[in-house]
Amino acid sequence: LDPGVRDAAGSASNEAEFDAARGVIPGGVNSPVRAYASVGGTPRFVASASGARVTDVAGRDYVDLVGSWGPALLGHAHPEVVAAVQAAAARGLSFGAPTHGETELAALVLARLAEHARPVAERVRLVSTGTEATMTAIRLARAATGRDLVVKFAGHYHGHSDGLLAEAGSGLATQALPASSGVPAAIAAQTIVLPYNDLAALGAAFDAHPGRIAAVITEAAGANAGVLAPEPGFNAALARLAGAEGALVVLDEVLTGFRVGPAGWWGLETAAGAAWEPDLLTFGKVIGGGMPLAALAGRASLMELLAPLGPVYQAGTLSGNPLAVAAGLATLRLADAEVYRRIDAAAGVVADAVEETFATVGQPVTVSRAGSLFSLAFRSGAVRDYDDARDQESWRYAPFFASMLADGVSLPPSVFEAWFLSAAHGEEDVARVLDALPRAARAAAA
Ligand code: PLP
Repeated sequence: LDPGVRDAAGSASNEAEFDAARGVIPGGVNSPVRAYASVGGTPRFVASASGARVTDVAGRDYVDLVGSWGPALLGHAHPEVVAAVQAAAARGLSFGAPTHGETELAALVLARLAEHARPVAERVRLVSTGTEATMTAIRLARAATGRDLVVKFAGHYHGHSDGLLAEAGSGLATQALPASSGVPAAIAAQTIVLPYNDLAALGAAFDAHPGRIAAVITEAAGANAGVLAPEPGFNAALARLAGAEGALVVLDEVLTGFRVGPAGWWGLETAAGAAWEPDLLTFGKVIGGGMPLAALAGRASLMELLAPLGPVYQAGTLSGNPLAVAAGLATLRLADAEVYRRIDAAAGVVADAVEETFATVGQPVTVSRAGSLFSLAFRSGAVRDYDDARDQESWRYAPFFASMLADGVSLPPSVFEAWFLSAAHGEEDVARVLDALPRAARAAAA
């Protein structure tokens, strides 16, 4: 095994690793939030992970509340998932030809939706990232409707394809501006960015662009600007409005799918009696069990517009990769009711403790929740939309984060991210989090 980068004293160190990485990788990371830019300090270079713990190159272990940003539903390196991947690897890493496992995984996704929600989807296409899943869903919606415009909500993240990296311009129902350098203004102008949880704004957008909106894409429950839960009835009303206008609903369950429940957030709403249905669903994260795998699903008449049957092109050298499929299948098969019960319970204990601890130190915070997902905002009052999420003393998160890290708890390195628990978070792990909270809360309040 490569011993890694050593510091001047000859020890493995995160600082030495970060220095070396920055010399060869932009910012030293392959996805920006990993760089700790908003919390300061040095990212922990992970040497290994098991269950609820990650161990850095310096040999320190942390209770992990990042969970690979969602995939680690069962915790890290679950023995049955690892065994499934090892067995698949021994049979070959990638063929660029269909395999039985892909059919099994697609069938399992459809069966889960049918069993725990409704049989709204009939076909699944496997891709490698959530970005591809949403990008393809949008292309499909445009082809199906013959329209170009797409509505998304401010603060929702759907991956980094050009058209979905748009941000709200001033005024409602105006076309969006590029949210990243390098996105052509003409492409961003095909996206309308609206405030979340605001049905009047959605109605106004349909009024302003009659017959021109192909799709409304929405996170099933917002979790990328901190947790922004949909208000009761919001998703249903959105679907009704879109349906009446001939626009498709793309429900992005990349983060929530198979995490907040066996059929994602839509499954929870359906189980609670909601009757609305999405046209297309996107999945990622948990569906790949920690390997690069994502998917889109929908009724056959829509999905069969995809190549090779239809005119909508989509492809991938590594799509349906056999190792990723093996990890996804093993993870979903293990994700039974007990797994969700454990995650809900552990998340509830930690979220309650965060609230109570800050109340004790007299620091106003709001803990926003959506199923087992939750996040912290340094403000009082509910967080309904992106403006609310930004209207907080976000600088208080850095000292909070640093104190938790020093006490052996790895939180998401940004206040605008959800905290991820797993079925592997046991009493000792939760106890370490609870023990670390008071000191961190005092640091944030200072
Ligand atoms: N959609 C949602 C709701 C997400 O949370 C993410 C990633 O965080 C994506 C899409 C993009 O997925 P990926 O990072 O796999 O491209």
